[in-house]
Amino acid sequence: MRQRNKPWADDFLRENTHLVIPNPSEYKNKWKELFGNDNPIHVEVGTGKGQFIVGMAKQYPNINFIGIELSKSVIVTAAEKVQESGQSNILLIQENAENLTDIFMENEVSTIYLNFSDPWPKNRHAKRRLTFHTFLKRYEATLAYNGELIFKTDNRGLFEYSLVSFSEYGMLLKEISLDLHKDHDPENVMTEYEEKFSAKGQPIYRCKAVFQE
Ligand code: SAM
Repeated sequence: MRQRNKPWADDFLRENTHLVIPNPSEYKNKWKELFGNDNPIHVEVGTGKGQFIVGMAKQYPNINFIGIELSKSVIVTAAEKVQESGQSNILLIQENAENLTDIFMENEVSTIYLNFSDPWPKNRHAKRRLTFHTFLKRYEATLAYNGELIFKTDNRGLFEYSLVSFSEYGMLLKEISLDLHKDHDPENVMTEYEEKFSAKGQPIYRCKAVFQE
């Protein structure tokens, strides 16, 4: 994700704490209270500029969406999109997904999306991949029983690595697509990266997986 330094980002975040929640660990086990309803919570890790989460929130108004994004200069763009959309079922968090278990309680999340996560192709960087087993452990610790991890990417190497990682962890692979757009899922919401790569003719891979008891 291209990151331009945005000197106004700090001011924006200070003025928009209703969109990008500061100190998110204070809301652990209280996210539904913050949304003001009892709807299920879906989390996108590595939200980027927010196209997916805004599209999903419009498509599923009875689901609460929370986007986690590491980069301050990227999350402000997502926050502007959320603001423009007027959707009240989206909140954003500027955090490293490493801290997921400080933010969410066991069983608090129904679905986790990983969209076009950075591939980190060098073996020595494998532990930074969002599908490395240490991250899977964090997802397992927050997902409800039968909650899904839904992973999309254009990167075949990362996809193959991730399928093995899920399987070695003991997850059940529920649905695998090697060309999502050809398989035509009418409910699919495209991310910024998905639009860019599919426009170049690259296939999009998707896997849905669940943790087993
Ligand atoms: N999901 C978007 C899409 O599909 O268009 C953005 C994809 S971009 C390649 C990956 C994003 O994940 C970047 O914005 C990056 O800052 C974010 N990211 C990477 N590692 C992260 C982490 N550990 N925690 C939170 N966000 C992370």
